[in-house]
Amino acid sequence: MSALYRRFRPLTFEEVVGQEHVKEPLLKAIREGRLAQAYLFSGPRGVGKTTTARLLAMAVGCQGEDPPCGVCPHCQAVQRGAHPDVVEIDAASNNSVEDVRELRERIHLAPLSAPRKVFILDEAHMLSKSAFNALLKTLEEPPPHVLFVFATTEPERMPPTILSRTQHFRFRRLTEEEIAFKLRRILEAVGREAEEEALLLLARLADGALRDAESLLERFLLLEGPLTRKEVERALGLPPREALAEIAASLARGKTAEALGLARRLYGEGYAPRSLVSGLLEVFREGLYAAFGLAGTPLPAPPQALIAAMTALDEAMERLARRSDALSLEVALLEAGRALAAEALPQPTGAPSPEVGPKPESPRPRNPQGPRRRPTCGSGGGPSSRPSGPPYGPSCGRPARRSGKASSASLSPRTRPSTTARPWNRRRGSSPWPRPISGWRRSSSSWREKKKA
Ligand SMILES: [Zn+2]
Repeated sequence: MSALYRRFRPLTFEEVVGQEHVKEPLLKAIREGRLAQAYLFSGPRGVGKTTTARLLAMAVGCQGEDPPCGVCPHCQAVQRGAHPDVVEIDAASNNSVEDVRELRERIHLAPLSAPRKVFILDEAHMLSKSAFNALLKTLEEPPPHVLFVFATTEPERMPPTILSRTQHFRFRRLTEEEIAFKLRRILEAVGREAEEEALLLLARLADGALRDAESLLERFLLLEGPLTRKEVERALGLPPREALAEIAASLARGKTAEALGLARRLYGEGYAPRSLVSGLLEVFREGLYAAFGLAGTPLPAPPQALIAAMTALDEAMERLARRSDALSLEVALLEAGRALAAEALPQPTGAPSPEVGPKPESPRPRNPQGPRRRPTCGSGGGPSSRPSGPPYGPSCGRPARRSGKASSASLSPRTRPSTTARPWNRRRGSSPWPRPISGWRRSSSSWREKKKA
């Protein structure tokens, strides 16, 4: 059995899912007989670039009434990949000057049966620079019987000289609904049933690429009975959604111990920490969508808390790529829980400092008074609105220093004078701190603010 995406490859533009912004102008050009000589189709993989290129090739010589009809001998031959006037070249493996030279020779031959010869160059950005140069001569003055279609996932790697000689169409990622719609159509054609949730899950896993979704679906057609979400999760080793939703809800309610227990149970059942955290991210994302009034299951936490949790989980994903064990999973959950709690805490009204409350456990001590003033021990170092804030540094006698070039250069233990013995007027002015440090502190804090934003 051929792959699903080949069996169900569209035979007409109407069958292409999405990409209306590409289909409409192309159909118009076909109907008016005003096709360009060279097209560039760019976009992520599996969204219909090559399919559309083939439809163009079908339309060029279609004998039906509304080209491409998909049923006439010309359309059928193109569809089978057996038409002598339609040449598909994988530029990734045919990217040398010799290949292009051979191509140029073929270009100058007249078409055998169709009105025009169509050359489809897949992965066109893989052509070497010299190959592009060799091709450019042909593109500058193409023979009237030739139509080029370049398909690429990386249009920015195409030389500007090629870009300026092609009509560029950008294909977009397909939405989950569009992919689910196409999967539904395939299932109807093969007489199978499926839960909408199962199809949406497949669509989500495919990340906008229809071809990937169709490959995934093909695996499930071997199973008996209707396709359910649980079946998809089980077959792909994905943690059950209900359990993930429970963990996320526990974290959002501040019940970290409960979340840890659930996560440990799933870990014991054999789910990889990375797929658990990835699934949790998905649940939080939906929670955020719901908080913004979009489709999704709400979570008991404000949007900024959900964003903080997602950021923590996203950072954990990087660590989990290196080390995937129970401990790393627990650390990820603890950090997500902490981020949620920090953001969900009510902010005191009229507080002048954005640093009040939310980040009591920040690893870096902060200076809330701006760059010039130093906090002093026991004198209410913070603003008056900070009645019971956490200490700013490990010791009150000397504010903790941040690491960094400036501090280590000017405040290394060897040369650093004690607070009391520090010579005043060392450089200029009466400030106890040399100017460069103040400047550095200012820029450092503004840098962090930018990073936070
Ligand atoms: Zn036809």
